[in-house]
Amino acid sequence: MRRINSFGNNYKMDYSNLHLKPEIRTVCFDIDGTLIDERVPGAQIHPRHLGGNYLLELLARYGAQHSEKAESEILDYIKENLFWDYDDIIVEFGLDYDRVMASMREWHLGEFVVLWDRVRLLHELYRRGYQIQVISNNPYMGCLMKLELAEIVGSNGIGLLSGVHGSNNGLGQKHDPAFWRRVLELTGVPAGHMAMIGDNPLEDSYVPLQAGFGQAIIVQDTLNLEELSSVSV
Ligand SMILES: [Mg+2]
Repeated sequence: MRRINSFGNNYKMDYSNLHLKPEIRTVCFDIDGTLIDERVPGAQIHPRHLGGNYLLELLARYGAQHSEKAESEILDYIKENLFWDYDDIIVEFGLDYDRVMASMREWHLGEFVVLWDRVRLLHELYRRGYQIQVISNNPYMGCLMKLELAEIVGSNGIGLLSGVHGSNNGLGQKHDPAFWRRVLELTGVPAGHMAMIGDNPLEDSYVPLQAGFGQAIIVQDTLNLEELSSVSV
């Protein structure tokens, strides 16, 4: 099982082993398993939840106040609109935005822990002058709610990030090479200047490197700086 690091505020990390290639200008982070993690594995995506996504079940609960068929209607909606985001569903079903958002935020607070050592790495790279972006399989709104937990984005917008790319703006998921091509078009940064940091060897390393990314770094278990220098491709 994944170990979760949580250093005290005074902990000073040594980044001397962190070697990004000289051509790298933009460093992209994955979210799940990289910046935050489930408190209990399987809470987020589970077959007992509507469409495997707990938040859709939560939306169906609110939708049921308007229609007894909310669950099947939401499933139909996401099948017809593959690149949905949570706010699309809120608008489509006339749900109370503030109430739904409050419930979703509360759910996130209960279900996830922040991997603060990774978040500190993100801040350190920003301080070093790299552009920081996020690339995730979550829809854009899901990305923002998770990044909010990690205090990376706030009510004023995406803060220090220069881009957030999710399933509905990349039009797909990270295992799909076409997703990376679209993300590269959105960033406008030459692929060779981009590095990806994530926890999934296929989605965060193999596929982005195939798409031309200059470097990919896989973080596993606790952040291991030796690993950062040796696993990079
Ligand atoms: Mg991940």
